[in-house]
Amino acid sequence: MQEKIVKCPICNQGSFSLFLKTGDYFLTREEFIIQQCDGCGFKFVNPRPDKDEIGRYYQSEEYISHDAKKANLFSRIYKLARVHAIKGKYGIVAGHAHAGKILDIGCGTGEFLHYCKSRGLEVTGVEPNDKAREYARKVNGIEVFNELGEAGISNPTYGCITMWHVLEHVHDLNETLEIVKGMLHPEGIFVVAVPNSNSWDAGKYGKFWAAYDVPRHLYHFNKSTMDKLVGNHGFETIKIIPQKLDAYYVSMLSEKYRSEKNNYFTSLFSGFWSNFQAGREGRGHSSQIFVLSLKKA
Ligand SMILES: [Zn+2]
Repeated sequence: MQEKIVKCPICNQGSFSLFLKTGDYFLTREEFIIQQCDGCGFKFVNPRPDKDEIGRYYQSEEYISHDAKKANLFSRIYKLARVHAIKGKYGIVAGHAHAGKILDIGCGTGEFLHYCKSRGLEVTGVEPNDKAREYARKVNGIEVFNELGEAGISNPTYGCITMWHVLEHVHDLNETLEIVKGMLHPEGIFVVAVPNSNSWDAGKYGKFWAAYDVPRHLYHFNKSTMDKLVGNHGFETIKIIPQKLDAYYVSMLSEKYRSEKNNYFTSLFSGFWSNFQAGREGRGHSSQIFVLSLKKA
């Protein structure tokens, strides 16, 4: 079923404008509308497939594992980037005093948690996809729950909670943030990585920008809307860390969606230029990691 958003999830008002018509270039080729709240500027897919309907937009092996069998340049770059990304993520959480106990929401097959565990952290995951969850449990030996609420039963507080490119997929946006707030140690950090719809590459590629990824990405954040959203739940941004490789990855996919060809050279240039332009007019990088803490009362 389709579900219609009638009140902005951030500012609660009900007047929206058309931002963009785009399509599911990854899988179904279906068209979707991204609306923008007239009050706070938040962008979201509306109407959107509801929780029961969204499953069929994930019916791709590639989406679960990103593990293309062909060892083409694209997948090789992706794998290199993934190893680099896991180490980078670990660097962010390890530097935090309360990161001894970590919860990764949307942990997929558990590679990040596996790495954290090998470095001595106590790890827990949440993953709704059955195949990915079983893999994380059996192959990577991680304790993984199906739903977020279950993770709070065995471990009421976590020093660090992470959502790596997951928040934009979650139907119950505000409910999820409230649960996270309740599970986070008062001195803990909450780390949220999301694409940035204000980035230079988002502007360049328009409806072909791969990080719109409709309807799987239900929301399209920028610094302003992320600050407002998390502020509503008692969090404040203490640091924003760029994910510079995402500019290249997203540009490659976007080029493919736009021209149905692998324009490697143009993609490399776009990725480089997006990172270069990130400081201009407060645009920010293609994807960004928000490191959040609970506001002190
Ligand atoms: Zn709004």
